Amino acid sequence: MRVLLVEDEPRMAAALRSALTVKHDMVMDHVATLADAELVAGDIDYDAILLDRQLPDGDGLDLVARLRSRGVMLPIIVITAKGAVTERVTGLEMGADDYLAKPFALDELLARLRAVMRRPSDLRPSRISIGRLSFDMTFQEISVDGRPFDLPRREILVLECLMRRVGRMVPRSVLMEAVFSLDDEIQSNALDSHISRLRRKLAGAQAGVVVNVVRGLGYMLREET
Ligand code: CA
Repeated sequence: MRVLLVEDEPRMAAALRSALTVKHDMVMDHVATLADAELVAGDIDYDAILLDRQLPDGDGLDLVARLRSRGVMLPIIVITAKGAVTERVTGLEMGADDYLAKPFALDELLARLRAVMRRPSDLRPSRISIGRLSFDMTFQEISVDGRPFDLPRREILVLECLMRRVGRMVPRSVLMEAVFSLDDEIQSNALDSHISRLRRKLAGAQAGVVVNVVRGLGYMLREET
């Protein structure tokens, strides 16, 4: 899951980054202005946006309106100190999916993030099963034959990306986008190392799936025959 955070308070941004990426296995990009947000949101396929309202170059709700008018329908949660009822209503009317007043508990943000990602406007399945492997996309829980199958964060992100496109060749560029944020320093062979570790673990757990290499192009997950 890749999330864009638009927030100009460094402490808030740092707290959310550590919570969402370290504890909850997400990829997060952080920008501090509307202009940067509009730029990256047009470029990268995010699963959700967390958006502050009071930003140096304007009101976050203007971004909601601009993205919606361009047909960008990804879930947007507005997080703001402006928590009064009228503010909330305006936010939702402008096309935000949810509205969270600061200060908020991290668990509440996570619950709302999961809720907006489950809505029917999001047509992706919330659980995918292939072979003996099952991936709950909402809670990022993986199991083999019903038993928990624990993986490090990057390998979870690789597997999620491959499972969403099972039986299809996934280009390296798509995997890179799913696994690394804009701030990550990426070694040229980093993706291949994550994938080779993942393949070994899938084989070791007899998950009933294999990751094929499409030489020079990308990777493909399929059920073992
Ligand atoms: Ca702010």
